[in-house]
Amino acid sequence: MTSSSVTAVLAASAAAAAISSLDADGALPPAATAGTASRLVHGKFRFFHARVVGTRRLGPSIVRVTFGGEQLRDFAGGGRDQSFSLFLPRAGQQVPVVPTDAGDDWFGQWRAMGEDQRAVMRSYTIRSHDREHHEVDVDFVLHGTASGASGSTGSAGPASRWAAEAVPGDRVVLLGPADQDNRSIGFQPPADTDWVLIAADETALPAAAAILEWLPEEMRARAWIEVPDLRDTQELLSAAEADITWLVRDPAQRPGALLADEIRDANFPDGAPYAWLAGEAAMIKTLRRHLVGERGFDRRRVEFSGYWRLGATEEDLRTEKIAAAAAAAATAGPADAALPDAEPTAATATAGPADAELPDAATATAEPARAKPATADQQPGDAQ
Ligand SMILES: Cc1cc2nc3c(=O)[nH]c(=O)nc-3n(C[C@H](O)[C@H](O)[C@H](O)COP(=O)(O)OP(=O)(O)OC[C@H]3O[C@@H](n4cnc5c(N)ncnc54)[C@H](O)[C@@H]3O)c2cc1C
Repeated sequence: MTSSSVTAVLAASAAAAAISSLDADGALPPAATAGTASRLVHGKFRFFHARVVGTRRLGPSIVRVTFGGEQLRDFAGGGRDQSFSLFLPRAGQQVPVVPTDAGDDWFGQWRAMGEDQRAVMRSYTIRSHDREHHEVDVDFVLHGTASGASGSTGSAGPASRWAAEAVPGDRVVLLGPADQDNRSIGFQPPADTDWVLIAADETALPAAAAILEWLPEEMRARAWIEVPDLRDTQELLSAAEADITWLVRDPAQRPGALLADEIRDANFPDGAPYAWLAGEAAMIKTLRRHLVGERGFDRRRVEFSGYWRLGATEEDLRTEKIAAAAAAAATAGPADAALPDAEPTAATATAGPADAELPDAATATAEPARAKPATADQQPGDAQ
């Protein structure tokens, strides 16, 4: 077991390999720009055609893909852990097949298509947003791919495979925010927060990094970030008084185990905490229980989100979610059935893996209509 601990070193990033561009003017191929912006989805979200304008390897397990295009002019990311749904073409397709003009009905229409036809849908985080050039950076973990780190776990999925091979010009569709104030941002510390606890594995590193950049000067932060390889560590910027501990797991270790152990053994600062936990679902569940059950954190001050689950694809998790929502709707009385979240609507059905594992997580994958938990006291992890 190896671990490296780094305390708040936070200088500007020195790694500066140039991003390669497809062409000088940054124009999208005509088909992607056809027509105006797509219809709004649940009032706050929109589909955006985009293309890869560059890629850059950040470490053995992570590649940064920069997406650009004229439609991203209207992209309104709110920073922090702003997430979105990414749509990728199937084998043999140039452009992902998504009903981008179906408005709130898009999910039903997407699901009604054949699995070999409809675009692959996965959840990702906006690592950074260049509003001037209409570009967003997304950091992809290359799990299970031949080019990923040896310590990387799991089998490859379509998104990690796609990212490993992405080249400028590749076409994608994003379902993301059209309003900076949107429900796909989980990190919402109460005004009286004295210090912030951040726990992240490599999939949540982009979000943790963006959160640290967002924190104000007067805030204290303790961050624990687990990665598969020492070379996946990054220099992170923060105006806050941030203390960052990098943890490098052994390839034989279960993802997140080291992170959970380290936090269990840590001394916490005094004052009112706010915790943000994201990564492999079992790890997140363990940590949340520890903070609430053993450390006495108020559960309303613990934001948690399973970003993936060992052994399950995102599609598997979505299917579970739909089945759970259908079962809930079947057993609900008429009054409950009328509530939006009691039905397997597009919104509930397409929520990300965190929702499948931990139904009250605020992970939205750009799925706006899903209510933020009103029942923060009744999360299933507590009952077990
Ligand atoms: C809100 C949100 C934001 C996210 N942001 C990011 C992000 O910015 N960057 C990022 O890389 N990921 C992010 N994720 C996680 C990402 O969506 C999942 O890892 C997703 O499963 C990847 O899709 P895939 O097609 O590569 O693999 P899938 O087809 O979904 O899964 C294939 C197999 O790989 C396993 N697997 C999935 N992810 C991993 C992993 N990281 N390590 C090891 N095994 C894995 C699965 O358990 C499964 O067995 C985010 C998830 C959510 C919900």
